[in-house]
Amino acid sequence: MSALPNRILIVGGGTAGWMAAALLSKLLPQARHAISLIESDEIGTVGVGEATIPQLQLVNAVLGVDEDAFMRATLATYKLGIEFVGWGDADSRYIHAFGNTGRPIGQTPFHHFWLRGLKLGERAPLDAYCLNAAVARAGRFARGAEAQSRMLGGPVHAFHFDAGLYAAFLRQYAEARGVTRIEGKIRHAGRDAETGDVTHVMLDGERAYGADLFIDCSGFRALLIEGALGTGFESWTHWLPCDRALAVQCEGPAEIAPYTMSTARAAGWQWRIPLQHRVGNGHVYCSDAIDDSVAADTLLANLDGKPLTDPRPIRFTTGRRKQFWNRNVVALGLAAGFLEPLESTSIHLVQSAIERIVTFLPNGPIRAADVAAYNAQTVFEWERVRDFIILHYAANTRTEPFWRRCAAMPIPDTLTEKLDLFRASGRIIRIGDELFSEPGWLQVMIGQGMMPAGYHPLADAPSDAEMREFLSVIRQAVDKQAAALPSHRSWLQRHCWAA
Ligand code: FAD
Repeated sequence: MSALPNRILIVGGGTAGWMAAALLSKLLPQARHAISLIESDEIGTVGVGEATIPQLQLVNAVLGVDEDAFMRATLATYKLGIEFVGWGDADSRYIHAFGNTGRPIGQTPFHHFWLRGLKLGERAPLDAYCLNAAVARAGRFARGAEAQSRMLGGPVHAFHFDAGLYAAFLRQYAEARGVTRIEGKIRHAGRDAETGDVTHVMLDGERAYGADLFIDCSGFRALLIEGALGTGFESWTHWLPCDRALAVQCEGPAEIAPYTMSTARAAGWQWRIPLQHRVGNGHVYCSDAIDDSVAADTLLANLDGKPLTDPRPIRFTTGRRKQFWNRNVVALGLAAGFLEPLESTSIHLVQSAIERIVTFLPNGPIRAADVAAYNAQTVFEWERVRDFIILHYAANTRTEPFWRRCAAMPIPDTLTEKLDLFRASGRIIRIGDELFSEPGWLQVMIGQGMMPAGYHPLADAPSDAEMREFLSVIRQAVDKQAAALPSHRSWLQRHCWAA
């Protein structure tokens, strides 16, 4: 290991690898760091991962990329949230929308007033007070000044994009900033007999590439973090039993929904992600509870249009590496672990891990304290996202055996604490810098039928008449603002439609 980890080798060129290459080439001084990336066209990428959360805007901002250019290059559409269909009972439907719901009064969050309103006979659902949900349902979109109001701000957006085009977009950016791409298939990795660090990878044709720091983005193969270092894997399948997916693309309808759809099925769920030129679909399911052929039939029977590809099977085990950073290898993306894409979090976990790598970049030999701090932060982040995903399964009242099992399973203590607090008092506490904030937890808990026994006493401060007026003003403002926006398709066509 040289004094500085100035030779950085990224192993794998999917979304994780090229995002690492693009961001590191931007954030690290070029004179001090040589960044290379090895990928194999023969192996290819996982080819899914097309829905994001709003934090991806930060990647564009850091790279200095124009949003419209990014949208055109990746055939992207806007995403305002996720509609969950059939997740509470079979007839339930709610949107986990980005952004806020209603407005707080002083320090008291809005939903306590909404809960009081229910007692007064106000029947409007929670999402009637949420701008993002209303805009999504109306199939509309706008951003910037023309979408803003003083009372509610504007819609908060993320993106749906073509995964292959996104990797290509990032690759072009990274190569232009000096990242060297090496084509070839890695056969094995060499380790230092004394320190145990990885020293080099050996490609077809006996080509060897050495580095000081390796970033393992080799997907499910986890060539370095597991293959070379045997780091170990912590399985979470007792909480998240789905272990397979089938992915298929189909033709899209004329109107392009500005949200992801997630529909619960007998033993799993189906995603729908609309892009400019097609719709991405997939069925995530538990192979113990349903046959592959039934899963495929279910998927194909529930498409918006003609299939454009054959269903492609993907197998996975939910869980995480025991260490995300081990010796001189940091794992990102699917090499780091797997969480099902129910809340579109995996690309974000790559993004935030890269930010963390920069934070902990050694200025000399790698120190155990840095590695430990990196791992502690990453474990916290992953476990809190895991809890949020488990919530969707645990809080269901569906009748199929798979769903009954999910409702009865023991859940992590960290999740139990959150649910107990909410059930008793309507309170939601965000711990540390966990990813999902109060509005997200609220929408999913209420959306799946979990009603708290009480609300904050300060919500009793307004009179009944003031309470009704407050709720009605917000509802009307939401409806008015949503109705004033153009259709999602027309916005795309005006600003960022690909030729
Ligand atoms: P990959 O795309 O698999 O890339 C691995 C790379 O390693 C490839 O370039 C390959 O060539 C290279 N490689 C492997 N072995 C070798 C070798 N021996 N030699 C040389 N090169 C090698 N995330 C989201 O945020 N939103 C979503 O909607 C979403 N949906 C998903 C749906 C499913 C079914 C799955 C499985 C995942 C989903 N994800 C989603 C996760 C997302 O797809 C991944 O986080 C993202 O694509 C990153 O993948 P990756 O780059 O780690 O791996």
